This record gives sequence, C-alpha cells and structure tokens, in this order.
Amino acid sequence: MVDTLIQEKVLRQIDEHEVVAFTQEMVRFESQNGNEGPIARWLADRLAQAGMEVQLTDVHRGRLNVVGVLPGREAGIGLLFHGHTDTVPFLNMKDPLSGEVADGCIWGRGACDQKGGLAASIMAVQAIARAGVPLRKGVAVAAVVDEESEHRGSYALVEQGIQADGAIVTEPSGLRLVLACKGTAPIRITFHGRIAHGATPWLGVNAIEKAAKAVLALGELPLRTADLPGLGSMRGSINVGLIRGGTAYNNVAHECSIFLDRRTVPGETQSTCLAEIRQLLDRLAAEDPQFRATLEVDRPDWEWEPIKRRGLNPAVTPPDAAVAQALMRAHRAVVGEPVALGYTDGYLDMDFLVNDLGIPTANYGPGDLALAHTDQERLDVGELLTATRVYALAALEMCL
Ligand SMILES: [Zn+2]
Repeated sequence: MVDTLIQEKVLRQIDEHEVVAFTQEMVRFESQNGNEGPIARWLADRLAQAGMEVQLTDVHRGRLNVVGVLPGREAGIGLLFHGHTDTVPFLNMKDPLSGEVADGCIWGRGACDQKGGLAASIMAVQAIARAGVPLRKGVAVAAVVDEESEHRGSYALVEQGIQADGAIVTEPSGLRLVLACKGTAPIRITFHGRIAHGATPWLGVNAIEKAAKAVLALGELPLRTADLPGLGSMRGSINVGLIRGGTAYNNVAHECSIFLDRRTVPGETQSTCLAEIRQLLDRLAAEDPQFRATLEVDRPDWEWEPIKRRGLNPAVTPPDAAVAQALMRAHRAVVGEPVALGYTDGYLDMDFLVNDLGIPTANYGPGDLALAHTDQERLDVGELLTATRVYALAALEMCL
C-alpha cells in the first residue's frame, strides 16, 4: 500500500481547471484518422513540459506515435498508459471541434473516444512529476495512431518491443474496470454467378440469391460462449453489415459480396472463423451445384496486409493481475466504492499489449462508450477528473 501522505501530495497537484482546459485543447485539435501528425507533435511538447522523456516515431507517412516516460531509479516501466490520438470522421456532428463545456460535459469529436482518457493519464503523470515523488520504476504514456482503422500505432509499439509491468488502456469504460475484450474478424464473402438478361433469369445464375441463402445460414451458425472467471460469460457474434452486388435492375447479378463483422471470444481466432464459414459455404455448395463463393479477410477501409494477416484477437487479463488490483484500490480510494468489473463486447488495443507483448492490461477510462462515434459525442467532466485521480494513484502503486 502506498503511504496516504504521498497519495495526498500527488492528488493536490491535480488542478481541475487545468485538466479540463487541457482536454478541451486536445478536442479542438483536428486529428481524424490519418491526420495524427499535428496533435502528436503538440503532445510531445506537452509531455516534455510535464517532465517526461519523449520519443516520436513516424509510423506511416507523418503519422506519429508519441511515447513519454517519467523515469524511475530502476530501469523499466512499472505502468504504461495507452491511448490513441486519432478520432473517427466528423460525420454529421454539428460542431466537432467545439470543446465547449455544457451540461457538465466537454463536447466534440474525440472528447469521449478518447482524448479524455489520454488527457487524464498525462495530467496524472504530470501530478506525480510536480509532487517530486521519487519513483522506483518509470511511468509511461503511449499516444498511438490509427486505432480507428488499421491499428498501425499499436502494431508499431509491438515492433519496438515496449515493455511494462502493467498497462492501462484509457478508452472510455464509464469508469468500469474492463479486463477482457472481444476480437473482430472482418470477413468478405464473394458469390459468383452468371450474367443474363433480366427477362430470362433462367439463363443466368443470380449471385444475390446465393448471397441471400448464405446470409440466412450464417444467422443459424452456433456461436461459442467463453466463461471468464470473475468477469462473466462472453458470446461471439456475427453481423452482416454491408452488401455490394449486381450491375442493373434488369440484369442477373453475376457477382455479390457481403462484408461481415465476426466478433470472437477467447479460444477463437480469425482462422478458426474462416474455417467455420468455409465449412458452411462447402455445405451450401454440396446442396446446390450452382453455388460458388470465395472467402477472404477484408473490410472496406483496410488495405494494409500485415493487419489482415495478424487479425484482431480477443484478450483477457486475470483479475488478480497487479494492474487490475492497483486500479481496484485506486478507484475505491477516490470514489469510495468498489469498481464494477467486466468485459467489453468491443475490441481494444489491449490485444496487442496482452497477446503480443505479454503485458497484463486493463481498460479503465472516463466516458460513455455509447456516445463514441455519434453526433452527440461528449465527456462527463466529473468522470474525467475521477479518472485523473485514479490513474495517479494506480501509477504510484505500480511504480513506487
Ligand atoms: Zn477509441
């Protein structure tokens, strides 16, 4: 347990107005996926001002990962905060760069997903530096690019071989402690038919009809459930989100593609999903000699081969991991109640940290995930401030 005098000394260095203003400034930075360079350079300066040693890495065409470390006496990082600088597109959001505070929330694209979490972690490390508490091990912040698409930022962290005793993914969890995420396998099935005039469909093979058969069969696939001790039971899912096919209303469609989002649970991988769907397509082909379909990993915004090969996998951290325990105690100390524990149906970059780097990783962050990506995106200021305090205490516990 960390001395409460040290805890109080650090918490006193958290200035609420500064935390809010810093988050607002981040929200006002345009950083839609692909344009992470400017905010990364600005963050590098801010991390250095907060007392950290900073490294910028060009991950892809000026898209920069920023890693800041507040070093300790000993080599190595005790706790790594992980966040992403990119946001989804503005879409139909009215004032995406507003950053204004209204109804107790900071409004704007990225406020919740997830500049708030990133800001809270930086403010927490800054408070430790300002308090002058000598750390045994370092505390680090990694602000990565491209979480919203091809995950090149976390992929680069893996290539660098970053190490830490524990990590916190700062994505919005509504201040719940999330210790597992699902994987997501983007799969494209293309159905091949034969073109003919729409007046004589019996002369062709309609690929849209074949796709329809497959979509119904996919809905019947039995999906696996995984029981996660202490976290509940997690079930996989399939969603056919996109269909493209045909050439004209009065033609027989010779080709049709469906894109599906197969969410996976521990024990499943991209290749087990492909095999399962291959089997289903083979069964349909056995029943219908005109049924022809091909299968691949693909989604409309992916073109980078390494991520297609790697896939995005489920990840689990046991509740007795030091980082989970540190967050439980820190949350209780700040909020006065035990933290709610669970998993997310979504995907998190904790996949890279847990599965590739072997770092026990928890997700704990301010903000309501249901507001992410919507035109109502906003961040509750109270949650932002709580997260900042909880992060500071968790970092002390992991690094003192
Ligand atoms: Zn996010």
